[in-house]
Amino acid sequence: MKVAVIGCGYLGATHAAAMAELGHEVLGVDVDPERVRVLAQGRAPFAEPGLDDLLVQHVGTGRLRFTTSFSEAAAFADLYFLCVGTPQKADHDDYDLTHLRSAARTLAKYMDRPSVVVGKSTVPVGTAARLAQEMRLVAPAGDGVEVAWNPEFLCESTAVEDALHPSRLVIGIEVGRPRAERVLREVYDHIIAEGTPTLVTDLMTAELSKLAANAFLATKISFINAMSELCEHTGADIVALARTLGHDTRIGPWGLRAGSGFGGSCLPKDLHGLLGQAESVGASRPVSLLRAVDEINSGSIAHVVELALEACGRAAHGKRITVWGAAFKPGTDDIRESPGLRVAEALHDLGAKITVSDPVALPNARLHHPHLDHCADPMLAADGADLVVHLTEWPEFAGVDPAVLAVRVNRQSIVDACGTLDPTTWRQAEWAYRAPGRPNAA
Ligand code: NAD
Repeated sequence: MKVAVIGCGYLGATHAAAMAELGHEVLGVDVDPERVRVLAQGRAPFAEPGLDDLLVQHVGTGRLRFTTSFSEAAAFADLYFLCVGTPQKADHDDYDLTHLRSAARTLAKYMDRPSVVVGKSTVPVGTAARLAQEMRLVAPAGDGVEVAWNPEFLCESTAVEDALHPSRLVIGIEVGRPRAERVLREVYDHIIAEGTPTLVTDLMTAELSKLAANAFLATKISFINAMSELCEHTGADIVALARTLGHDTRIGPWGLRAGSGFGGSCLPKDLHGLLGQAESVGASRPVSLLRAVDEINSGSIAHVVELALEACGRAAHGKRITVWGAAFKPGTDDIRESPGLRVAEALHDLGAKITVSDPVALPNARLHHPHLDHCADPMLAADGADLVVHLTEWPEFAGVDPAVLAVRVNRQSIVDACGTLDPTTWRQAEWAYRAPGRPNAA
């Protein structure tokens, strides 16, 4: 099929490459000419394992192209995916839908034949129905424009694999308009043939399925962080406790790593988005639940700062603190809502001299946090440090030998906010080791 992908960020660039890999002819559209230039050279504008390979391969064959022209996209495609960003509004729980609405309107102006538009961006419930109305008003094809919602569940750092082999396909369609389902089943036929569960719903359920999934994951992470506090009061160990929980197949191990909480571009935003929506419709139980999840998450960052302060004898001013981890999780250079950088900023505000280390995300950290020092090598970053704080679970940090690191630092003191370093090894090398929820590991 001929497919246009509007918005070529993490979601759109990955989706466009995956569509080409599935055998379709793909045209990616973005308003950012620099992004289009980089993608058209077969390069990803961000770090995502496996994406460069797909881009090079399919840009090379001409099956995947990129443009800034909506008219070209409208003329080219049989099917249009909307993958534009839907950031959180500043100081507000709502989504900013300006970019999405603008993309939909611009595309609609050129739609002169019956077509299917499929939203993949994460949106509040009700958005798809409103966009469908707006597009039909603007498009020369009028009522011939059909809108479906097909939320994307990919995770950064495994995005390519997730896009090609999703855990499920959710297809939300308009009542009385079955064409979109047929077209989506055709475009995803390889994925469906693999046995991927395919769930056809109304538009509202499809929109909510993404928000609810992310809110559930956020709740799980906040749950383990709440248990971590209980461990500190009772002497239990959160890492061992999490293992006992994770082996229960009803619970599963994902997300049960206590630490500085969740970050990234999706979980915090979608938790707030769902909270805003629940508040606007007066749904009190989800409001209390989601508020608690959010508060525990903020508290988890504050708790890591508190552990760092304790480790500094409650005086951070003038101390040299090395922060291991700028990416919000390993495998990506995405620093949006990164817990590591939030801890770094809080300690910087308390007067500490911060050096941030990260194997991949330093260019972004440098750009957005220029007042902090930066050093890619985790050993060099710790030169003369009074404290090391481990905040992103990169293998590069886990591989550091505490005995070798000891000779570089001023004080052998570490806060392991990921809880993944071995306390025995670090203690044997004469480090003071602290970790959330591990009172007896210190
Ligand atoms: P992003 O910020 O990385 O990319 C958004 C892209 O949209 C940018 O390239 C931007 O230039 C482009 N854009 C903005 N306005 C446009 C317009 N009018 N026309 C065309 N392009 C336009 O965002 P993202 O992380 O890719 O997220 C996109 C959507 O996907 C969001 O709703 C997000 O919640 C959702 N999502 C993201 C992920 C993820 O892992 N990042 C996963 C699932 C869903």
